[in-house]
Amino acid sequence: MYSIDERRRNEEYRRRRRERIRKKKQREARRRRITLVLMTIIAILSIILIVKIFSSCSADKIVSTAEKIANATQSTEIPTLANPIKFTESQLQLNVGNAHRPLILDSYRTELTEFSLKSENEKIVRVNENNELIAMGEGDVKIICTVSDGRQAECQIHVNPMSTTGIRKDLDRNKPMVALTFDDGPNGSNTTSILETLNRYNGKATFFMAGYKIEEYPDIVRQVFEQGHEVANHSRDHLYASDLTFEQQKEQMESVNQQVKNIIGQEPTLFRCPGGIEGEYYTSGRMPLISWSIDTLDWETKNSNSTYKRITSVFEKGFNLDGDIVLMHDLQDSTPDAVKKICEYLNEKGYQMVTVSELAYYRDVQMEGGEVYRYFYKDNPSRDYE
Ligand SMILES: [Zn+2]
Repeated sequence: MYSIDERRRNEEYRRRRRERIRKKKQREARRRRITLVLMTIIAILSIILIVKIFSSCSADKIVSTAEKIANATQSTEIPTLANPIKFTESQLQLNVGNAHRPLILDSYRTELTEFSLKSENEKIVRVNENNELIAMGEGDVKIICTVSDGRQAECQIHVNPMSTTGIRKDLDRNKPMVALTFDDGPNGSNTTSILETLNRYNGKATFFMAGYKIEEYPDIVRQVFEQGHEVANHSRDHLYASDLTFEQQKEQMESVNQQVKNIIGQEPTLFRCPGGIEGEYYTSGRMPLISWSIDTLDWETKNSNSTYKRITSVFEKGFNLDGDIVLMHDLQDSTPDAVKKICEYLNEKGYQMVTVSELAYYRDVQMEGGEVYRYFYKDNPSRDYE
């Protein structure tokens, strides 16, 4: 049995204990409230921060979109200022006879395809139908390029004199060279077909033209020249020197020089006597006289296969054509087909097809007026092809 005192002590003890538990619960409840308040504050602060970051991003976006719209408006409204055009080279040097295709770029370096070119002096540089610049004569000239929306660009060109006319400086003097020559034209599609074939093999040839044919086809004379071939003189009327006086020979030669100059801006430098007959005026020293070492006889056989065989037979006999001058005629209708086969054959054999002036240049021969040249061999051998 408990005594009364004990019971009281026990009750007192339980009361204090209850009191301690109640206070503990109160403390815990307070702690939870504080934690809750702190977490709420943190949460609110975080939300504020996130909102701030997000709102600053979208502000950026709005600004950049606004800028873009402004830029777009500017570039469509004032194209001249926003996107000017220019030549890839604002200054250029050409030699007489060179053809140059200029590249026109805008400020994004995009190549323009629709533009027109104008030369301030057509006697120095001419613009042809393919928008190529053709150097016609020595001097300086400004070329203006215009696009349909009015944008313009300028290029200053200096054209060097004609001393080294048309001679390609990038040929290999150690590789074999042959000069194909075509007489008695220009002659319409015969000549243009031959040009096409030559161009396919990066070949150049010499065209000995007669004045009466030049009169008929001035555009072809220009085409021959512009494509880097040699325009040469074969007299006005193709009359044999044996039937002409000194004065008549002079007229036959000089009138063609003038005629060619009127078309391409420069006189031919080489002459071939009609029929190979050398007259007194012709040998008097005005121009070098170019004969030939291989006659394909295309004028006689009028057969493309026979013309072609005249070339292949040289190799079959153990000779070669390095340094030879080959005679053909663009007057003959069978010749263009023969040229196709000949060019393919020579190209396969590693031959460079060159103009007579190129051949002389690479064989270090300074041609002299009135002298006859039949070939430009490296070692000047005597050859018998027949
Ligand atoms: Zn002839």
